[in-house]
Amino acid sequence: MQALTHQFIDNRWIASRGERRLPVTDPYHDAPIAEVTAGAAEDVDAAVAAARRALPAWRALGGEARGAYLDALAEALAARRDELEALSSRNNGKPRAEAAQDLADAIACYRHYAGEARALDARQGEPVATGEADLVSRRYQDPAGVAGLITPWNFPLVSSAWKLAPALAAGCTVVFKPSEVTPLPEQALAEIALAIELPPGVLNLVHGDGQRVGAPLTAHPGIDKLSFTGSNPVGEAVMAAAAKGTRGVSLELGGKSPILVTEDADLELAAELVLAGFCYNAGQMCSATSRLLVHEAIADELHARLDAAIAELVAGDPLDAATTLGPLVNAAQRDRVEGYLAAAEAEGLAPTTAERVLLPDHGHFVAPRVYRDVSTDSRLWREEIFGPVLCARSVRDDDEAVALANDSDFGLAATVVAGDPARAAALASRLTAGNVWCNTYQVAPPGLGWGGMKASGIGRELGRAGLEAYLETRYVTLPA
Ligand code: NAD
Repeated sequence: MQALTHQFIDNRWIASRGERRLPVTDPYHDAPIAEVTAGAAEDVDAAVAAARRALPAWRALGGEARGAYLDALAEALAARRDELEALSSRNNGKPRAEAAQDLADAIACYRHYAGEARALDARQGEPVATGEADLVSRRYQDPAGVAGLITPWNFPLVSSAWKLAPALAAGCTVVFKPSEVTPLPEQALAEIALAIELPPGVLNLVHGDGQRVGAPLTAHPGIDKLSFTGSNPVGEAVMAAAAKGTRGVSLELGGKSPILVTEDADLELAAELVLAGFCYNAGQMCSATSRLLVHEAIADELHARLDAAIAELVAGDPLDAATTLGPLVNAAQRDRVEGYLAAAEAEGLAPTTAERVLLPDHGHFVAPRVYRDVSTDSRLWREEIFGPVLCARSVRDDDEAVALANDSDFGLAATVVAGDPARAAALASRLTAGNVWCNTYQVAPPGLGWGGMKASGIGRELGRAGLEAYLETRYVTLPA
């Protein structure tokens, strides 16, 4: 069994100072497949020191050369496509087709930021109007410094790409801590850094858990910028740590996103989008549209179609091409979701869908559940469940749908399904969410942005904003 007991620091594999090891599991076979070090603060110290040493040369290299490294990284990922898809599927439990989509997204992200790195060079020193006849000013953008990057387990290789690619493009050097739950696919990034001869210290990968590596990384004075994706309680701790030393912080946190279906919607499309919105990745998506707001005139028919679509899901081995529903990532996550199912029962809620999907006799599976007429003060309506659980309400009109959609602590994403595109756009304009998809699947191309309002986070990943998150701006003003 593979043991990930070494940290990738300065392009070398260095034995972790941490004594403790954590099991890495295959959630379908419910079996350990590797071990990973829980890490230690000394590992973080060494990684930050390496990143600091590497910073001046990486910054001076310029966007053209940094872009070439990012292109090489994308190529190397593509060359290992089969192996990485299988590894991600096996370690996370997601169906192979979803792992393939993840890898394609990650590769597109590295390529996109290769272009952004070059474009950054071209923008340096752009003149800025001062409004004063005797003064001229030029604008420069510098890397924020050493970035500390922390990611969760639900989209391995993707969440990391959304941070590593813009940070490296901007000229930052990084210390990256992947989730201890899915370290296997992320380990490939260190192997690739070595293979493409990325300069030592530019990308350091430190395995470990939140207590031994995450917290010391966020508190480390050698880190200039923190970028975190994960749960709200940890996000708040990361923000508090960033306050010490007044350091920059980007947060991508939880969600409880709505999907609105109007009475003129294409019901086949609506059923597909509702299903994907809470069952893709077994519902383990920050952007899961887990609150359905459907017009009362079509509610029964939509629910009937949804039940039929759920019955067609195939739960099974994530590596089997026929599988469309994988297990949850581990026993803890399954227990957490089952806790919500118990809470529903205690609240007197009965699912319309239980037992429609035949589940394998092993693996951390949860059958999709749909609850109708859920009270807006139910825990199931308000809290992020991170499993295949949909709460639904019927609404009289668009105003009620918008009011209920926006009545949430979160504001990450939303979907609108409406027959009239102008009506869909009008609804989208009233929603408090960082991304709104109208009559289409959840997509996140690297040129757009990703991130949430309210408790869903601070800042945006992807797009130009995703690069700016790792840059500081300098204006140089002189007499004309
Ligand atoms: P988590 O917060 O438990 O862990 C995320 C990462 O933080 C892991 O690498 C973990 O080891 C680390 N960590 C834990 N404690 C820490 C600490 N005290 N200091 C620093 N780091 C620490 O989240 P998770 O269970 O891995 O992921 C699920 C959560 O992530 C969900 O709430 C989901 O909504 C959120 N998420 C958000 C987005 C987004 O883009 N908004 C994307 C994916 C996941």
